[in-house]
Amino acid sequence: MTTQTIHPLVASARAFAEETLRPRAGEFDQQECVPRDVLHELAERGLLGAILPREFGGGGLDPLSYGLLTAEIGKGCSSTRALLTVHASLVGETLARMGSSDQKRRWLPDMAAGRRLACFALSEPDIGSEATAVKTSYRAQGGEFVINGQKKWITYGAIADLFLVFAASEGEISAFIVDRTMEGLSTKPMSGLLASRGAHLAEVKFDNVVVPKENLIGRLGTGFTFVGNTALFYGRYSVAWAGVAIAEAAVEEMVEYARNRQQFGKKLRQHQMVQSLIAGAVAKLHAGRALCEKVGQLRNQGDDAAVMEANIAKYVTSKLAMEVTLTAVQVFGGNGCWNAYPVERLFREAKILEIIEGSSQIQEMLISEHAIRHYRRRQHRPSFANV
Ligand SMILES: Cc1cc2nc3c(=O)[nH]c(=O)nc-3n(C[C@H](O)[C@H](O)[C@H](O)COP(=O)(O)OP(=O)(O)OC[C@H]3O[C@@H](n4cnc5c(N)ncnc54)[C@H](O)[C@@H]3O)c2cc1C
Repeated sequence: MTTQTIHPLVASARAFAEETLRPRAGEFDQQECVPRDVLHELAERGLLGAILPREFGGGGLDPLSYGLLTAEIGKGCSSTRALLTVHASLVGETLARMGSSDQKRRWLPDMAAGRRLACFALSEPDIGSEATAVKTSYRAQGGEFVINGQKKWITYGAIADLFLVFAASEGEISAFIVDRTMEGLSTKPMSGLLASRGAHLAEVKFDNVVVPKENLIGRLGTGFTFVGNTALFYGRYSVAWAGVAIAEAAVEEMVEYARNRQQFGKKLRQHQMVQSLIAGAVAKLHAGRALCEKVGQLRNQGDDAAVMEANIAKYVTSKLAMEVTLTAVQVFGGNGCWNAYPVERLFREAKILEIIEGSSQIQEMLISEHAIRHYRRRQHRPSFANV
């Protein structure tokens, strides 16, 4: 646990998660929908805008506290936490950093209050990991841009009002905010997903959507290098905490079950091999949490090292969430394979984290590139004193 005192917004997130999200997360999963009233309460409590600057109606929370808040919501319900990731981290934080003063004034107050929801539209039917190869196109027309193409897997895309869209023109990628009310934009909800079922995923089509030049984020042609990479940094930080959240929920469930279930005349918790399963899971959880806290502290200090540490944290916690939830299913036995208990859902949710925001293989590429530079042994100079 962190030694930081808990911010009231984090305490509010914890209460909301315990009272509302955790008891209903299975229902949201089965009905493939986090209902509007739940999203409304998230906004009412100031949780949707917690990380956004105060001057635009946000909570002005520091990044470490925001990570803790994300984990509280994620412990309650992954599909609800996914809105924080796309709306607040991928789009909100990016606009706060990269948007012009006019753009911030135009969108952030509505986003902070939850009056308008935002989503992040990068992936396409044929383009995922190779994000710089997006086929969605834009062309300049007078003082405007015309966007054509298709996006896929867009979390909260089915109900979002604002779309941060990445499109290419002659090999250069630019980023735009597209409003749902713009003619030519249409969305089609996706169903039948392994997990993240409540998170309103959608395919999005752009059919000659005319976007004013005021909606271009950053400079033309810098859409991926600056805007996209900035967004992915914030998104990976959020997803890293999502891994901690799922692992912690799974540990709590397995401990509770092991304390109550009896086999061979003893509680499960009294069997040494079950104790071993619990110990391994808890150790992984603590390691993952420590890593995320470190990234949060680096972010609080404005240290650029946070970028690579966020990649590492996302890579590690998505893996350990998978391992811990697998252990939880084992502790639950048959009941672990049944949706009357939460661990089968946690297990499914953990898998998503190894794929989104740069899959584990993409993180391995980024981490190894960094390692090959950073962990190079310096040439040892012979000391003349010993010659
Ligand atoms: C639940 C969910 C929510 C999502 N939400 C969003 C969203 O809000 N916005 C958005 O833009 N996208 C979203 N995505 C899409 C997600 O970002 C992509 O699925 C992800 O980037 C992987 O791309 P892909 O599925 O096309 O897989 P591919 O890129 O086709 O990769 C397939 C496999 O090959 C591996 N691979 C690919 N390239 C390499 C390589 N060079 N070396 C080694 N291995 C490689 C990958 O790791 C993966 O295992 C979401 C996806 C899911 C499942």
